[in-house]
Amino acid sequence: MCCPVGARLPTFDFFEVLLQRSDHESSEAFGLKVLCCDGLLIMYAEQDNGILQRWNCDHPTKKIREGYAISSVNGKEDSQAMLAEFQSATRIRMTVVSRLTPLQKRTFYSTIRAEREMKKANDIAQMLIPATAAQISGDAACSICLDDMKEIEAVCLPCGHIFHTECAMKWLTKRSQCCPLCKRQVT
Ligand SMILES: [Zn+2]
Ligand SMILES: [Zn+2]
Repeated sequence: MCCPVGARLPTFDFFEVLLQRSDHESSEAFGLKVLCCDGLLIMYAEQDNGILQRWNCDHPTKKIREGYAISSVNGKEDSQAMLAEFQSATRIRMTVVSRLTPLQKRTFYSTIRAEREMKKANDIAQMLIPATAAQISGDAACSICLDDMKEIEAVCLPCGHIFHTECAMKWLTKRSQCCPLCKRQVT
């Protein structure tokens, strides 16, 4: 039996979303955070914008969620042209694809993970102060690796405890966001 190509995917894998902004809602891209991934626009991050919240509230079966892709915006299918529509149009009609292929999923989630890890590391790095020579003099040792502090770059956490920069960054990004000695929260 002949099966039309379009029938291979259930229809609910695609749906149409209409967004409109008023004059006072000038937020960029309708508050959509999208990532260009292999020519596709994939949505990420929590939707904290009024336009999107309204849509999601009014259309419970067509909610916009992280990991969904956009395959057309106002008839445009090229990712750059779609982005341009987000910036300039006051009304957008877009086709949302709710199911990514396994390859798209892998690319998307590894990109997102890398971005989030970088942001977390930046946030943590901002909370650390380079240790002064006076702070690392004497027999002080880094409580993470137990090596001494001499001649290795060291940082001071907001609680005042001092560790090698590399040890502190590893600890705070991979283990816990608390000081390993006094457990005070760093971020
Ligand atoms: Zn260390
Ligand atoms: Zn501490």
